[in-house]
Amino acid sequence: MNTKVVKFGGSSLADANQFIKVAKIIKADEARRFVVPSAPGKRNSKDTKVTDMLYSCYDTAARGDDFMPLFNEIKQRYTDIISDLGLDLSLDKEFETIKVSFMARAGRDYAASRGEYLNGIILAKYLGYAFIDAADVIFFGEDGKLRLEETCIAVKKRLDKVGNAVIPGFYGSMPNDTVKTFSRGGSDITGSIVAAAVNADIYENWTDVSGFLVCDPRIVPDPEPIQTITYRELRELAYMGATVLHEDAIFPVRRAGIPINIKNTNKPEDRGTFIVESASSEDCIYTITGIAGHKGFLTVTIEKDMMNQELGFGRKVLEAFEKNGVSFEHVPSGIDTMSVIVHKDEFEKKEDLIIEGIKRSVNPDHIEIDRDIALVAVVGRGMKSQRGTAARIFASLAHNNVNVKMIDQGSSELNVIVGVSTEDFETSIKAIYDIFITQML
Ligand code: ASP
Repeated sequence: MNTKVVKFGGSSLADANQFIKVAKIIKADEARRFVVPSAPGKRNSKDTKVTDMLYSCYDTAARGDDFMPLFNEIKQRYTDIISDLGLDLSLDKEFETIKVSFMARAGRDYAASRGEYLNGIILAKYLGYAFIDAADVIFFGEDGKLRLEETCIAVKKRLDKVGNAVIPGFYGSMPNDTVKTFSRGGSDITGSIVAAAVNADIYENWTDVSGFLVCDPRIVPDPEPIQTITYRELRELAYMGATVLHEDAIFPVRRAGIPINIKNTNKPEDRGTFIVESASSEDCIYTITGIAGHKGFLTVTIEKDMMNQELGFGRKVLEAFEKNGVSFEHVPSGIDTMSVIVHKDEFEKKEDLIIEGIKRSVNPDHIEIDRDIALVAVVGRGMKSQRGTAARIFASLAHNNVNVKMIDQGSSELNVIVGVSTEDFETSIKAIYDIFITQML
């Protein structure tokens, strides 16, 4: 039988209505056997995620202040879901334990993890599936790092015994049995681990968008979803700011050769995005896969006559950055110039030391700093086989009066990165979207 591991994000389980949609999705396919829920998310834009409420409730308790009003608000969120679903279930005992643990300073991780734990109990009851506490099967080492091998063995052993199960996301346990969470958004990681452990055919990650979008919808309204993206493309886009999935969620499934399908709980009929190891460039609908970017970069340009003949010049310049703990993003160079692109805020904290270091080690003729750089990355496996891709990018920018300050093409031909003025950032993304996507529709 096929096995699908399905993870539902917080907005997919924010209230009883969403639970109903989720159960329908799960029951529509008997392969959807193992379910990983997040804690209830926002029901509307003004709402607060239960995880955030738990953090502030615990902080209040830890300060010795009255945490009961917020505690009761959290309890009410769950009670509403239970009663709206008409379930015969009480979480009174669990809430009592949580209250006592808060008073005994059980820790912020424990507090936050209760969001997923309680949601998991409700979902398991509603679906008629077994509930498996993630603390019993997901293990961290003394160093706080996930013990993936041990965890996969424990998860598999446990799940082999049940036909269907709900395993709450976001947390596991430390060797001393205390609870530890992943970083925020970490239920994605739990889903990936469970999928790898049971060697699932696919890891479905259900959220509130129909997959990865070609670019940020705050910049281009209603952008096209990406049909298929490779792990490498995803990494490029995620690095440049695109987010849907927790970065650490990739490794367990990728290693096991399991594809991920990002799906929309509110539009289950949409295909969503498939994240796969490799895909041919021919199956791309568009030449590019996605556009992402960031503001807040800075360029340090170092000029020195005959620089190209000075062995070790580049290394010495980069050493000045390294010694001060500032990592570089790109290093475009000319014959007698070399530019180093870095995060502005990181650099400015160490500016004097780095500039001094460069002056001392390479004695440049001139150093110039441009503090107004935004980077835009155009990513796509299809770019390699299409002639004229770079020309189209630059033509679209020129037509929109954008001055290109820097160009960097990765040697894999998977991406082209363009540096522009911060004020041209949005215009650049719109222009590139327009030429590669809108004009092809
Ligand atoms: N509930 C956690 C958070 O808000 C984990 C998750 O939703 O994945 O970060």
